[in-house]
Amino acid sequence: MHPNLTVMGFEKEKLPIFYKTSSEIEAIREAALLVSKTLGLVASEIRAGVTTAHLDKMAEEFIRDNGGTPAFKGYEVADDTPPFPATLCMSVNEEVVHGIPSNRELKDGDILTVDCGVIKNGFYGDHAYTFPIGQVRQDVLKLLKVTKECLYLGIEQATIGKRVGDISFAIQQHAEKNGFTIVRELVGHGVGKMLHEAPELPNYGKRGKGILLQNGLVLAIEPMINFGKKDVRQLSDGWTIVTLDSKPSAHYEHNIAIVNGKPVILSTFDYVDAALAKNQNAVAV
Ligand code: MG
Ligand code: MG
Repeated sequence: MHPNLTVMGFEKEKLPIFYKTSSEIEAIREAALLVSKTLGLVASEIRAGVTTAHLDKMAEEFIRDNGGTPAFKGYEVADDTPPFPATLCMSVNEEVVHGIPSNRELKDGDILTVDCGVIKNGFYGDHAYTFPIGQVRQDVLKLLKVTKECLYLGIEQATIGKRVGDISFAIQQHAEKNGFTIVRELVGHGVGKMLHEAPELPNYGKRGKGILLQNGLVLAIEPMINFGKKDVRQLSDGWTIVTLDSKPSAHYEHNIAIVNGKPVILSTFDYVDAALAKNQNAVAV
């Protein structure tokens, strides 16, 4: 999950950035790894015919059994929007983010973005993965691959001496070079004792712009990349964001900390990769 630029308005409110100590970073890592394991559990169960509500229920039980609390369930963004009702954001095909789990059965050829947040020992973890279900079109698989590459190219930029805009620029360049577009309305963010902290981290921008990166900064880097046009809209449920042209969208997210001048990835896709290798109904990206 991530803030909506217009709703959260970190920059406008000039909220402070909280730089973390090494023990705080370890606590965030613990929360992030519980998210990683939860995504691995989802990966082991994912197949055509399963409902997103079933995966959501499994995830909630797993998080609570492991000493965590689902961070998205009950999350509120605005007075006129009901709190988010589930543990996972489950976004299928043209749904970009914030999809609500339901009795919808996944179909062969779908893509499913699973975004998960956990609170553990007072700190948040928040990361996401887009899964192909069965046989997915080659050009859509390319969207997934490029979006994941954008995530790692963004992370590479998170070194001392660079600025937030360097991360944004790297993500945008790679996506657009491959013919895809960047969602503008939703952004990455700082993470720590709150799910969404300053700074905002757009997935588009200019090199050398924005705040200077420093040790102790912990970020949720999360490119949201569209197959077709960049424009999105929100459904009347108050949450689900879909592409305006109904073409698919992908989203990968990691939590990283800057330590000794370099990015350290606190979350991992290792559990997802291991589960997908064993799940004959799923394919790796
Ligand atoms: Mg997220
Ligand atoms: Mg996020």
